[in-house]
Parts: sequence; structure tokens; C-alpha cells
Amino acid sequence: MAKVMIVEDEEAVSLMLRYNLEAEGFEVEQAFRGDDADIRLKEIVPDLLLLDWMLPGVSGIELCRRLRGRPETERMPIIMLTARGEESERVRGLATGADDYVVKPFSVPELVARVKAMLRRAKPETVSNLLTAGDIELDRETRRVRRSSREVHLGPTEFRLLEFLMQSPGRVYSREQLLNGVWGHDVYVDERTVDVHVGRLRKSINRGRAKDPIRTVRGAGYSFDEKFLG
Ligand code: CA
Repeated sequence: MAKVMIVEDEEAVSLMLRYNLEAEGFEVEQAFRGDDADIRLKEIVPDLLLLDWMLPGVSGIELCRRLRGRPETERMPIIMLTARGEESERVRGLATGADDYVVKPFSVPELVARVKAMLRRAKPETVSNLLTAGDIELDRETRRVRRSSREVHLGPTEFRLLEFLMQSPGRVYSREQLLNGVWGHDVYVDERTVDVHVGRLRKSINRGRAKDPIRTVRGAGYSFDEKFLG
């Protein structure tokens, strides 16, 4: 599922957003200061950023400007949260590169709808329940995987690994990136664990002469082979 990062110093607002986004199935990360968010965003790139205007450390507008200056985050969807009466600042916000803005106090259902709409445009694969690539079909809602209409039984880690790789076909992930994306940041596991689970995933998904959708990139990591799509 899509990962949304909330950068907001008002804890009550942040918590309410987190609660509502998680209820919709989003993975949520929070930062409460602009400078903390800046550091974190050098480690991870969420699918969408909710960014408050007035923040301690580094302001939302300055953070937005910095993010647009880095290749990893230059196209990340950003929705700014602004206070009422900051009309001219809102214009500045968009000029600095935010994709959209909402004015506080905002309606939560409306904000959630905007988040979804923006993700549908920018990253459709993160909001759709069904991922398909070649003859492989992964359903996030039922947690089922099929290949050429044969049901494939995967363990929870193999499922998340396949889901993660299928979201960005062709993109090569290092073992460390896979650990962060699939196992989570707070989990300590050896990088070789990734190889073990990739091996299990391959074994389950490739039967007989079926083409292997996972590419091993020597010295780099793994990717979902974009050639497999054709
Ligand atoms: Ca604030």
C-alpha cells in the first residue's frame, strides 16, 4: 500500500490524520519538525507527503523547496497544509512546487479523497487493489496471488516482497532498500535474509518452465523484470 508521510507539529492534527489514513489502508510515517523530516526524507521517499506550512526547525515552504531540488524527491506528490488567511502564502507554496494545498481546519474525508486522487494520478499502482504484470496477478485485498490463473501460495513475507517489487517494475532495489521497504526500519535482520526470501518467492511463483519475473542484478540487488511485462 501507499506510504504517506505527515509533517505536522500539531500532534492532535497529526494523530487524527494518521488514524484516518491508516483506516484507509495507508502506511503512515510522522515527523513533527521540519529539520527532522528533512533528514528522514533523505532515507526514505514516501509516495505522498502532507506538509504543514508552519513548522519548527525548517519551515514547510523551505522543506518543499529543498525536496524539489533533490532528484529523489523532485516529483514526489506534496500536499501543503496551510492556515486560513495565508492566501498569498498559498500561492507561494504552489510556486515552490507543492502539488496541492488544503486550508485548516479541513475536512478529513475531503483530505483523504484528495490524497487518493493525487495518488491515482501520480502512482496508480499504489492505490489499486489489484497489481498485474504479465501472467501474475496480486490482489492486496484478498492477499491472493495467481499466475496464469493458478493460485500461488506465498508466506506473508514473500507476499509483501512480491507486492513491493511489482509496484515499480524495472527499478532495482538494494538488499538494504528491500529490508526497509518490506521488513520495516525498526527490524534488525541480516541482508542475506533477503536472498533467502527471494529464493522462496521464486520457488513458489515459478513452476516448470515459467519465466522468472525477478531479476538478480549482480552487485546491486533485485528488481521485478520489466521485460517480463511484455
Ligand atoms: Ca504548524
